[in-house]
Amino acid sequence: MLSSTLTRFSGRNSISSGIGLINTLMPTTRRSTRVAHHDVEPPTKKTKGNDAHTIATNGAAANLDPSHHTEHTDSTSSNQAKTVKWKGKGKAKESEVDSSAFLERVDSQWLVGAHVSAAKGVENAIINAASIGANAFALFLKSQRKWTSPPLTDTSIAEFKKRMKEYRYTSKMVLPHGSYLINLGNPDADKREKSYTCFVDDLKRCQELGLELYNFHPGSTVGQATTKESLAFIAECINRAHKETEGVTAVLENMAGAGNIIGSDFSHLAGIIELVEDKSRVGVCIDTCHTFAAGYDIRTKEGWNNTMKAFDEMIGLKYLRGMHLNDSKTDYNSKKDRHENIGLGYLGLPAFNHILSDPRTQGIPLILETPSFEQPAEVWGKEIEVLQLMCGQHTHSPSQAEESGLDFGGFVSQIKSAVKDAEKNGKGPKGKAQKTKGSGGKRKRGNAAQDDEGDDDDDGSDC
Ligand SMILES: [Zn+2]
Ligand SMILES: [Zn+2]
Repeated sequence: MLSSTLTRFSGRNSISSGIGLINTLMPTTRRSTRVAHHDVEPPTKKTKGNDAHTIATNGAAANLDPSHHTEHTDSTSSNQAKTVKWKGKGKAKESEVDSSAFLERVDSQWLVGAHVSAAKGVENAIINAASIGANAFALFLKSQRKWTSPPLTDTSIAEFKKRMKEYRYTSKMVLPHGSYLINLGNPDADKREKSYTCFVDDLKRCQELGLELYNFHPGSTVGQATTKESLAFIAECINRAHKETEGVTAVLENMAGAGNIIGSDFSHLAGIIELVEDKSRVGVCIDTCHTFAAGYDIRTKEGWNNTMKAFDEMIGLKYLRGMHLNDSKTDYNSKKDRHENIGLGYLGLPAFNHILSDPRTQGIPLILETPSFEQPAEVWGKEIEVLQLMCGQHTHSPSQAEESGLDFGGFVSQIKSAVKDAEKNGKGPKGKAQKTKGSGGKRKRGNAAQDDEGDDDDDGSDC
């Protein structure tokens, strides 16, 4: 089914490359990259308990932004995933990077990518993104668990900008993720100031790198303020940061809703935006796992449309600047933030099909924050491949999918098998997998230091 789908895609486009098609059909395990990953770890989640239902375990983030990709888009078709494939090989020749093993990058209006490692320099995130065929990427701009980090070097900044051009990424395809320590909603003035310093430092790094989006978690009341009070603190910090920086948009992420965390309800995000003076520099990132966990049922197309309607009425669609594409290890309305690999959780693959058939998600970074088990090419590469195949395909039930040539079951099997292999072969994030509890064949995950959004029971009260 996969091959027939690809063949059909290929048939639509006269410039589709035969080599590209062959490469796409090759098992991803044969297309691994030599680029080093994971100095700054992508977000992952802790495993808790033994959930028989789910198989994958970590969390990673992704953002998409198709609008800047117009040079590669087909003007005759706004909704279809493009079949034109290309490699960065030619342009990367001047650098030391061997791009021969890079996965194919499919041209699409939907900018699917992943939260990649920025180990040994932010400039390496670009290589890591390109190597897995990502059309967008997220990265940490500094250690996400430290209050202070050395400034970006001039060499790093120059190389980052050079590689952005080489690998054909624009700033709208990049959604940096802020430090997890930041809590701008903390009513304690000293602690909030410490968070603000870290926050504005991140924004300045974006500015230095020529990036225009910056995604962060709104914060927490830490149980010592009303939500309304914390919303005002957050907005105040954004207003202040806007005056200290230029050209960077503060992108608020919606949250799963545990404890005192702010942002699980769209009204929270709307409340912050309402108080932001320069509304051209504030936006929202919707995380599919968080949305579902917070009580917005996006499993069906109708549910997704209702959620988008609520978003538009409450916040406004123009503020949607990115998404995190994560399946969920926990069921609807769980308030838990547990990322699962695409198609292997409670959301399921059909949910991603209708999300990626929606023109409203075009042109923004769509970032995977799913577990990669240190095998990004195998796991994220496969997830990106499957998600890109679904882009623009207007089917949302398994039966309809089959009629249209989308084999949901086959796709899920492919992802499952990629995850299984990666789990077997992957080293685990810096050996952290060995530290996690559980045995007897249960899946292991990275520890909290690699987690993306933090535990559901961690409301950032120390921040
Ligand atoms: Zn999360
Ligand atoms: Zn996040």
